[in-house]
Amino acid sequence: MAPSRELISVQDAQPPFFVGVDLGGTNVKVGVVDDQGRPLSWLSIPTDSERGPEDGAQRMGQAVKDAIAQAGLEPAAVPRVGLGSPGTMDIPAGMLIQPVNLRGWDDFPIRDRLAHHCGLPVSFQNDANAAAYGEFWVGSGRAFHSMVLLTLGTGIGCGIIVGDLLIDGENSHGAECGHIIIDCRDDARVCGCNQPGHLEAYASATAVIRRTEEALRCGRASSLTRRIGAGDELSPLLLAEEAEGGDHLSLEIILETARYLGIGIVSLMHTIDPNGVLLAGAMTFGGNQSELGRRFLARIKEEIDRRAFPVLAERIQLDFASLGGDAGFIGSAGVARADWQKGR
Ligand SMILES: [Zn+2]
Repeated sequence: MAPSRELISVQDAQPPFFVGVDLGGTNVKVGVVDDQGRPLSWLSIPTDSERGPEDGAQRMGQAVKDAIAQAGLEPAAVPRVGLGSPGTMDIPAGMLIQPVNLRGWDDFPIRDRLAHHCGLPVSFQNDANAAAYGEFWVGSGRAFHSMVLLTLGTGIGCGIIVGDLLIDGENSHGAECGHIIIDCRDDARVCGCNQPGHLEAYASATAVIRRTEEALRCGRASSLTRRIGAGDELSPLLLAEEAEGGDHLSLEIILETARYLGIGIVSLMHTIDPNGVLLAGAMTFGGNQSELGRRFLARIKEEIDRRAFPVLAERIQLDFASLGGDAGFIGSAGVARADWQKGR
């Protein structure tokens, strides 16, 4: 993850202020940003989900108060708080339905319980959508009118913004682009959601590891064998290291992953026709800072050029996201700001 943004002081900041809460399975990141999305403070607390959702909401509420105090502000300076959470959820109802990473938090009215504990109104969004909104507001997507963010990790998260609107759907399951179908064969790879042929089954970090294991089991020669034998864990990071060291199999799998992503992105381009597509998450192979990251991006673009309408292929802007681990809380604060501006 990229280092956290530089904090600005309250004297340099532009009111009003918004608090973003990024609820994850392990940690909750809470931060205060100003009207231009610049952080004044942030802190992180353990989720400790086994203590239950009411306890979690209470501690998150306290963290919101602490972050406001840390920024040197009074709660009255903050008109709204934004909460980004893993799904499944009912966004209009403010409910968690069955969050995979928060066992025992099913059917919990988290938006209203957090509002109760922090004493401020709360906007509620899916975490992937909130991260996309952060990139759209102040990150790599700030010049875009419409964009898609794909977060490559254990799964593939996605957020879509058209105009100033997040596409979250009638049932809070819009923009689940990790589950678009890129392989219609009966023996297609099976996704984490148990359906065959989804993008996530080919191009998530989990899929990359699985495909590498299969290749090694088939007897493909690779320097990975030695690394794994020495106790290193097979991961996209290990593949990146070996690919940079000249290992053919590692590079082949990384570029094949780019091809699958390119195929999925073409479907998104033909559906949305966005200004840009951004890639974020733990699996970006060094991003713009590394030759491998740039090669990964170029291979995706090659597939887009091959398969998309020429005018779209020519105009699409493909890039890495820039907010790193801060996208969640900055974006959640941005969602709160947008709701507040619209009087929602
Ligand atoms: Zn799926």
